[in-house]
Amino acid sequence: MKYVLLLAVLALIIFIIGFKRGRPREPEARNKPASPQAPKAMLRCAECGMHLPADESLPGKGGVFCSAGHRNSFEAREG
Ligand SMILES: [Zn+2]
Repeated sequence: MKYVLLLAVLALIIFIIGFKRGRPREPEARNKPASPQAPKAMLRCAECGMHLPADESLPGKGGVFCSAGHRNSFEAREG
């Protein structure tokens, strides 16, 4: 029982020191409307140059493409 009290006092001291050093910024950062850096990896369509998220891209012979039509025309032209 003595150790429980000691731990509680230690936790209180650590909490006070942590509070005085500076308030945590995590809750504020979470409420930001949009982050300046895009979290997703962006790829470029080899046919038209449009940037698109990696999970929406179509892989082809000469790179990735925004649509099947661009993949077809690219592959038809490049061989
Ligand atoms: Zn395209």
